[in-house]
Amino acid sequence: MTSSTFTPSSKPIPFELRPSSIQGTGAFATRRIRKGERIIEYVGERITQAEADRRYDDEAMGRHHTFLFNLDPKTVLDAGTLHNEARYINHSCAPNCEALIDKGGIYIFALRALEVGEELVYDYAYERTEEMGPDSESLYVCRCGAATCRGTILAPEKKAPARKKATKKAGAKKKSASKSRSAKNPVKGTKRATKPVKGKKSTGGRKRLAG
Ligand SMILES: [Zn+2]
Repeated sequence: MTSSTFTPSSKPIPFELRPSSIQGTGAFATRRIRKGERIIEYVGERITQAEADRRYDDEAMGRHHTFLFNLDPKTVLDAGTLHNEARYINHSCAPNCEALIDKGGIYIFALRALEVGEELVYDYAYERTEEMGPDSESLYVCRCGAATCRGTILAPEKKAPARKKATKKAGAKKKSASKSRSAKNPVKGTKRATKPVKGKKSTGGRKRLAG
């Protein structure tokens, strides 16, 4: 360990980045990480939901955006414009970490003790939107390889069974269909951070007007 003259947010991170079997580059523990440890802040640019919509369109780009996080109903964190190691932490349906909102920021916490060399993963659990159709599902296919893989990076469907239906209201306000209901927050005063999907359009093909 080096000097402690840095600010807390820039203390050495306990993982390194290297190729992952899950996807692209992953984050791998370089020391033991204890259960409940706050590993790293997910640093990003704070932008409005509207700005996030302007910047990203998952469907048009044919892939999902792993760099966005909901901070509060009005604010999205975009790590795509800032360098931050946290954004390399991959998704898994069998997570060993989780993303929680703590004191106005998003942090990655260890769900359990991690050994050196283990890949850090958390469940992205993208919030589902009412506009999502079957096509959308294919955009969020998961190949994490976990025995418990649910096949999608989207949040598990817990409520209404008939959700997989695209609505026809062009310009309808986007709403989070799944208000995250995580029952257990290991860290007091925190709540689970959710990742938004962007650019969901109606099946009518009409564009939502920005702003
Ligand atoms: Zn999976």
